[in-house]
Amino acid sequence: MSISIEGITKNFGSFQALKNISLEIPDGQLVGLLGPSGSGKTTLLRIIAGLESADEGRILFHGEDVTRLHVRERRVGFVFQHYALFRHMTVAQNVAFGLDVLPSRERPPAAEIHKRVQMLLEMVQLGHLADRYPAQLSGGQKQRIALARALSMKPQILLLDEPFGALDAKVRKDLRRWLRTLHEEFHFTSVFVTHDQEEALELSDQVAVMSAGKIEQVDTPQKLYAQPSSRFVFDFLGQVNVFRGERSDSTLRQGDAWVRLPDAAGATSLQLYMRSHEVRLQTTPAAHAYLPLRIESVSLVGAEVRLELSPVGWASDEPWEVGITHAQFNTWQPQRGDQCFAVPQVAHLIEVDAHTPHTLRWEAGEMDDPAAMI
Ligand code: ADP
Ligand code: MG
Repeated sequence: MSISIEGITKNFGSFQALKNISLEIPDGQLVGLLGPSGSGKTTLLRIIAGLESADEGRILFHGEDVTRLHVRERRVGFVFQHYALFRHMTVAQNVAFGLDVLPSRERPPAAEIHKRVQMLLEMVQLGHLADRYPAQLSGGQKQRIALARALSMKPQILLLDEPFGALDAKVRKDLRRWLRTLHEEFHFTSVFVTHDQEEALELSDQVAVMSAGKIEQVDTPQKLYAQPSSRFVFDFLGQVNVFRGERSDSTLRQGDAWVRLPDAAGATSLQLYMRSHEVRLQTTPAAHAYLPLRIESVSLVGAEVRLELSPVGWASDEPWEVGITHAQFNTWQPQRGDQCFAVPQVAHLIEVDAHTPHTLRWEAGEMDDPAAMI
């Protein structure tokens, strides 16, 4: 079931929590709402659910206006971070709750409810815990029960508000994978709120990045990461290396450092933003860039080796970070204190005080002999 959000505005007293939000969520998609605390994610989710009313705008499910429909009639499933289970009820009774309280003409027969609860518990792989009480479950198990309970009414729309926020990293990762599988199997449309960019990028078909009651950008995770449309999105999606300089002709300079830009830009005060994977390192300067760096630390965690670097003869507010492969690490053997040079492959040019980045790519011919690269 598709969800259309059309021009939603929400005020709390004189404070505007949502500013004319529009978003199309196609049937069967999992959309992540990503943004810092206070950006309006929960408020938007509650308005979709019908738990909160908007001051302006409309919500449509599958083309039908549900703006005035009561939460019960919208038939959506929810999972919240602290959507407490009923402590005095067993796991099975918790999952059955929504069905048990239906008016008798809508309520399935007891045997049918029992069967559906068993099926849902199997689905979340907790069938063996049906007779336990919530206090006897781990955090991850409780959230799986909360999800089974949300699915008991066979919703076509599932809304999740930081559902894994209170769990530890390993359990979060397992539950993410498992939510994705479930989503694909049951084809509901899901809206998933998180402030964790990794979670949003891993799970979502599309991510809507929110800031101060507005949507900054909606795109696939790949597009969002490769082509952020604003500085806010850039900064929010992870570590970024910045070279700030003054342009004269096609060269951007600061101190001893400079970068030759592949296309001339209008302004003179400019910043180049580069993600860790958009920069390579060399032991000699490149033809199109002179960005000397000193290695401050080498960390061998995970799939790549992460180097923290500080500028030499120029300045940067934050240290730079570049990842190299373990194979490159073994050949080069970089040490703390060694000097090297950053070679931008792709960079995003942002005028100081401007909003929208302009992506630059250097052609292979404009760069050095690839053999010199580490
Ligand atoms: P998020 O989920 O992104 O952290 P929220 O949607 O919870 O953000 O809140 C957005 C803004 O609206 C915050 O500044 C919050 O303080 C405010 N807000 C949310 N709910 C209420 C409320 N019931 N009354 C007053 N202000 C609220
Ligand atoms: Mg919230």
